[in-house]
Parts: sequence; C-alpha cells; structure tokens
Amino acid sequence: MLDVLVIGGGNAALCAALTAREAGASVLLLESAPREWRGGNSIHTRNIRCSHDAPQDVLTEAYPEEEFWQDLLKVTGGKTREPLTRLVIRQSATCRGWMRQHGVHFQPSLSGTLHLSRTNAFFMGGGKALVNAYYRSADQLGVQVRYDTPVARLELDGDRFVAAHTAQGERIAAKVCVVASGGFESNREWLREAWGQNARGEWPADQFAVRGTRFNMGVLLKDLLAQGADSIGDATQAHMVAIDARAPLYDGGICTRVDCVSLGIMVNRNGQRFYDEGEDFWPKRYAIWGRLVAQQPGQVGHCVIDAKAVGRFMPPVFKGVQADTLPELAALLGLTGDSAANFLKTVADYNAACRVGTFDHAVLDDCHTEGMTPAKTHWARPIDTAPFYGYTLKPGVTFTYLGLWIDEHAAVHFGGQPSANLFAAGEVMAGNVLGQGYTAGVGMTIGTVFGRIAGASAARAVKAAAVAATASAGVELAGA
Ligand SMILES: Cc1cc2nc3c(=O)[nH]c(=O)nc-3n(C[C@H](O)[C@H](O)[C@H](O)COP(=O)(O)OP(=O)(O)OC[C@H]3O[C@@H](n4cnc5c(N)ncnc54)[C@H](O)[C@@H]3O)c2cc1C
Repeated sequence: MLDVLVIGGGNAALCAALTAREAGASVLLLESAPREWRGGNSIHTRNIRCSHDAPQDVLTEAYPEEEFWQDLLKVTGGKTREPLTRLVIRQSATCRGWMRQHGVHFQPSLSGTLHLSRTNAFFMGGGKALVNAYYRSADQLGVQVRYDTPVARLELDGDRFVAAHTAQGERIAAKVCVVASGGFESNREWLREAWGQNARGEWPADQFAVRGTRFNMGVLLKDLLAQGADSIGDATQAHMVAIDARAPLYDGGICTRVDCVSLGIMVNRNGQRFYDEGEDFWPKRYAIWGRLVAQQPGQVGHCVIDAKAVGRFMPPVFKGVQADTLPELAALLGLTGDSAANFLKTVADYNAACRVGTFDHAVLDDCHTEGMTPAKTHWARPIDTAPFYGYTLKPGVTFTYLGLWIDEHAAVHFGGQPSANLFAAGEVMAGNVLGQGYTAGVGMTIGTVFGRIAGASAARAVKAAAVAATASAGVELAGA
C-alpha cells in the first residue's frame, strides 16, 4: 500500500511530499489543477518571512524571534496560538537551506518594495519558479504526481484516514494522508454564505475577486469539518487586499494590487474617508484594506494621490485616472452630486488637518493630521499638487483563515485528540497562526514550516504503523 498521500499541489503540499520522500516514504501527490495551472496560490508569491539574528545571505541586519512574534501578535490582535506560531517563527530561520537544496534561488528584495529587505527573502523568478523547482525535485526523488485529480472526500474510520475518493470516483488508499488543499477562497458560494447580507441589503462577497487560483474550493475542509475535525477561525476572516476594480475574477496576482494608499487618502463611494491610511508600514497593513473596502457601500474604495506620491510606490499594472483638478478627478472616479461635494470637502478638511513634519516613507514619520476622524497618523501631506490620480478598488480575497485545528506535529484533531495518520499544512491550517490580520510573507512561512513538519510526521506515522504491524504479527504468531 502507498505510504503517504498528499492532497494539493502548492507550496505546503510540495514541502510535505519532498520531506516525506526524503525520509524514505513512497509518496503520491494529487493536484486538482491541470499541469499548466499547478501550484495553487503559491505560484503568485514572491517572498517568505524569516527570522534571523544577524545578516544572512539576502537578508539584512537582524529579525529576532521576539520581534517577529510581536509583529504577528499586533496584526492578529492576539488571535493566534502562541506555541504553534513561535514554532513557525523559530523554524523560519532554518528553511532557506532546505529550500535551496530543492532548487529554490533567492534574491535581495526588489526596489520599490517597502521595508522588506530585513525580514523577507525573495524567490528568484517568484513563486512560479519555486513551484517548478519543487516539482522538478519531486520528480527526481520519485514522488508520483497526478494532475487533474480533485479529491472529493476522505474516507475516515473515526479519526483515522483510510482512503481518498477522487471526483472521478476512484478510491485511493494510503497509510497516511497530508491535506494541503488550500483555503476556500475560490468558492464564491461559501464566501457569500459566510459574509451574508449586510444592513444595506447587499451581499458583499458578490463583489469580491479571487486574487489567486480558482482551484481552492475548500472541498476537503468542508468534508473534514462535517466528519468531526476540530476547526479554528472564523469564515469571514481572510487575507484581503483592496485591488484594482478592473482585476479579473481569478489569478489577477500581485500586479492588480495598488500600493499607494499610505501615500494618499482612501474615500468610499460617498466621498468620505473611513480608516487611517498611515496606521503602519504598508506590508503590515495592505492585507486589511480588502476587508475595510468590503464594509463600504457598494464594496468600493477610491484611492487618491497627488503628483508628490508618484515614483514612491510600485506602479500598478492598470493606470489610474488622472486629472488636473480635484472636481475633474471626482467626475472620472464616478463621484457625482453629493458624493462629489463630499469628496471635495473631505480633501479640503484633510489638507487643512495635515501637520507636515519631515516626510519619510521609510520610517513611521511625524506627518499626521490633527482634529480629524479618522486620523491619518503618518505620511500625511496635503493633496494639493496636480496632476491628481485616482484608483477605484474592490476587495480581493487572497486566502481564508477558517481551518483545521492542528498540533505541533501538524496532526488534525478530532474532539481534542490528534489523528495518528491525518496531517494538514498550509492555508488549510493557517488560521492556527492567523486569527485575523497579516504580515507580508508569512503565508509561505506557515506553509513551508508546517509542510515540512507534516511530511516528517507522515513519514514517522508510516514507520510507527510498520512497527505496530510487526508487533501484532508477532503476537499472532506467538498466539498461534
Ligand atoms: C496574488 C498572491 C500573492 C501572494 N504573495 C505571497 C507572498 O509573496 N508571500 C507569502 O508568504 N504569501 C503570499 N501569498 C499567500 C500564499 O500564496 C499562500 O499562503 C501559500 O501559497 C499557501 O500555500 P498552500 O500550499 O497552502 O496553498 P496553495 O498554493 O493555494 O495550494 C493549494 C493546492 O491545493 C489544490 N487543491 C485544492 N483543492 C483540492 C482538492 N480537493 N483535491 C486536490 N487538490 C486540491 C490546489 O489546486 C492547489 O494546488 C500570496 C497569495 C496570492 C494569491
């Protein structure tokens, strides 16, 4: 019988498959997507967040465990399981060597990417190159891979994995299983149900775009929760970015992101501001704006900057609208009547409230507003220099946080007890670390660390099962 069945074809699945294979197990990996779309959300990534105590290869200075922990504590508002999160942080220090052995190359952080050279290691060629390298390595090591093979449900005996049933009706038995099939972000019906209808009668999730793969439908997450697996997290919590409203429904990737929010102001379709655009560095805040926009009427936000901001952020792929006056800009953004009047008043009030000190986008500077709600606490400068630019944004969901409750061995829990042969890694368990919020690069940290842990646990479970089988054969023989 097959030793380890890995379900999923992204970073977490590949890390688990490679690790289990390195430990001597036979491994089959089932990927929903066809070969040309393999790799899930992982193909869209650029970097991984790693702790380190001194400058290391592409990483500058130091990023100690405690600072990483404090960063996560802050963005999650304490909704995180400290022992598992500290495990992720600690092991993030050692994963790059292993990644290199499997063909991943790193490069220093790109210019235009703010504040990441110390904390995040960038993949040469991005996530697509990383995934391709892992598939190459998997092939060389003898991991079997099957594409176009979505798993529809798992057959369990209590909390023990028995077999996977594919959508094509095949039954695949294995001694051990690792589920690494992502979140449920591609499942628009589930998102609709989770977000529900708001007081304005809108179904906010109907306006969401999915930033990555269309294959993360949450089929196995739903199946396992229905079969009694313990869960963690809330179905509305997710990594959500405000992206260009012209982005495609799936796989728009990072180039639909608009990274100038902290350099300007954000207004809703009524022309009103609704959150502090300068609360913290952009990599610690970009993933909250999708949710903030989702709470606005029509799930729309307009980011407005002036000429002073140009050249200070990564240019988005779609050009924004441009005008020489603010009334013209309002019209181009579709703000008319009361909304246009509100918008002009918002900008005038904001400009009057700005207390400009020494502008520096690389530090939490002293440019802020006074007497304005919501305040803009850093990088506040008047919007007064033509041309003016505007970007209309909508919520883009990256990945969901509702997941399987696991322990430090990546074992899936049922009624508080760990399964002996069912493990989980990646987005499907990311909610153990991320109850809410996000800090750039931690998705790949979670998937890499727990992918490797799940792979090692799976190989150990195979060996434990062999020892148990030998012992029981011995008992039978002795009894015979
Ligand atoms: C645009 C974008 C940019 C990002 N940038 C970064 C970044 O720079 N750094 C970072 O840390 N994170 C980033 N992320 C988040 C990151 O992609 C995820 O945290 C990480 O890739 C999750 O890995 P995973 O293996 O759990 O999921 P995925 O890579 O999504 O893999 C899930 C896999 O499961 C397969 N699957 C799903 N259901 C089934 C089924 N029923 N049967 C079989 N297979 C199934 C899918 O086809 C897919 O291959 C980004 C995400 C997006 C969308």
